[in-house]
Amino acid sequence: MKKTGLLILTLLLFIPTACTKNNGDGSSALRVDKSGNLLGTGDSANDILSNTNFNKLQVEIAYVTGFRPTIQAMADFNDFLREYTFKEDIEIIYTELASPNEESLTLEEIDDLEQENRTAYNTEDTLAIYIYFADAPADGDEEEEGLVTLGAVYRNTSMVIHGITIRRLAARSTIISDGDIEGATLNHEFGHLFGLVNLGTVPVNPDHEDTEAANHCNVEGCLMRAELQFGRVPTAKSRTLMAKSAYEAGIPSGCILSGQMVMGLLHSNTGKAAIVPRLDAECVLDLQSNGGR
Ligand SMILES: [Zn+2]
Ligand SMILES: [Zn+2]
Repeated sequence: MKKTGLLILTLLLFIPTACTKNNGDGSSALRVDKSGNLLGTGDSANDILSNTNFNKLQVEIAYVTGFRPTIQAMADFNDFLREYTFKEDIEIIYTELASPNEESLTLEEIDDLEQENRTAYNTEDTLAIYIYFADAPADGDEEEEGLVTLGAVYRNTSMVIHGITIRRLAARSTIISDGDIEGATLNHEFGHLFGLVNLGTVPVNPDHEDTEAANHCNVEGCLMRAELQFGRVPTAKSRTLMAKSAYEAGIPSGCILSGQMVMGLLHSNTGKAAIVPRLDAECVLDLQSNGGR
């Protein structure tokens, strides 16, 4: 009896594979194909911006209990996607996760958590993005010195936002809210998934890439104007070395966004209310040259 059952199961498993193969598509419908979500940061810029290969965007917001992003941040993020991409079919799915009970998280640990918890992967016409809202700060934060990491991108469709760090930072300001910082961080990091600056999207005018902070913009007030923060010594050389060692560890990040920088951006031009910075004309031009709106 058991053998017959196994044989039937085997046949059932083979039939759909054979059908799929006839259609010229080698992937099996029974196995999740993750290969399209394991590329480098910026590698899917054109696929996010245009509808050429994927006409739907599915964003999985995986948040630790208590760290679901604010309605304000998600509204800003939604506006941002619709303003700069041609995607009109955008689905946001929320996945609530238990705390990993870590005091801090390295990118390697964040990647492991993604492998365990991510449910959204690319399908034929859907490009899937995974954003993890963590309840633990980034490894290496030095809060007393104001050196904290708010978010990072580490693959073509993967991002982490340190929700706990954002709340601690917002608690120090009477003007700037959780939602302001969350929205700015989310949009800035997503700018890197769009390939900015020179991270998968070739700049139309290369001069606007910051020579000190690679993959960032040097135009005053631009959302992509930010300091990379790799460790304590923020020289161009040490950043390159740190980026190289992170790459050798297998988890390169195009950007680790510091708290100081975001607070600086939100405070600029105003003493009364936070202004979430937008992309400047140079960055918009780059996106338009790579399939963006
Ligand atoms: Zn950045
Ligand atoms: Zn810019």
